[in-house]
Amino acid sequence: MAYDRIQRGYKRGSNKGMLVMAAIIVLLLAAIIVLLIVGSPLQNGEADLPSSSAPPVTSQGPTEEEQALMAEADQWYLKLVNKDNVLTGDYNPELTVINERYNPSGLKFDSRAVDALNQMCADAEADGVSLVVISAYRSISKQESLYNNKVDRLMTQGQSREDALVNAAAEVAYPGTSEHNTGLAVDFNAAEQYFEDTEACKWLQENAEKYGFVNRFPEDKSDLTGIIYEPWHYRYVTPEHAAKMNELGMCLEEYVVYLQNGGHVPETTTSAAADAGSNS
Ligand SMILES: [Zn+2]
Repeated sequence: MAYDRIQRGYKRGSNKGMLVMAAIIVLLLAAIIVLLIVGSPLQNGEADLPSSSAPPVTSQGPTEEEQALMAEADQWYLKLVNKDNVLTGDYNPELTVINERYNPSGLKFDSRAVDALNQMCADAEADGVSLVVISAYRSISKQESLYNNKVDRLMTQGQSREDALVNAAAEVAYPGTSEHNTGLAVDFNAAEQYFEDTEACKWLQENAEKYGFVNRFPEDKSDLTGIIYEPWHYRYVTPEHAAKMNELGMCLEEYVVYLQNGGHVPETTTSAAADAGSNS
């Protein structure tokens, strides 16, 4: 009997203990719930503090207009190719042979822009100006063989391989760095400085923009393009962008950064003072 009482006492005691445990758990849960309810507005309140004290415009992010300009920078017609932006062998645009009337060598141009090129040549002809395409699309493999031939020639002239590799790049663009690899660049009539004094050059300076072309390597931009003044070399960028680039007086290197910056000139302009080479 005494044993039974003790057993019951234990049971009663352990029941009491479990009740206490349950009460503690309930209290803990209640405390957590209260903290969650009371805590969240506090956190929100804290999160609101910085934005209310931050400058109102910059914290908003780019406007729709700025975003549209930023997206333009990635379009095919603004593809930037130079020593720092090398095209890879898998860049293979669809190509179309340029109208043979202005293209005795059967050269090709990006199919998306070839009509604009043909129209420009036709309208020049109607104005009594002859535009003849002497260079247009060049494949990267063709560029490789041009470059390698130049290296070989310099080495047979006695240069070391190291010197030849550097010096060849001054005359023939390293594969993937010539704008001709894009299929969006064209050379007219003569790749010589005297071209600047011809009627064809003057006509292009006045009219190319309407067809979506810009002179890609202006005289005063060599430090930015890395290419010597080439009055004969034109690049398709669309009429809209050609007009804007000319209005702003920007070469493509500057203009792409301007677009990436939402249509603003960045405060710190980096000037890549490199030796001007050739885009040939
Ligand atoms: Zn060229």
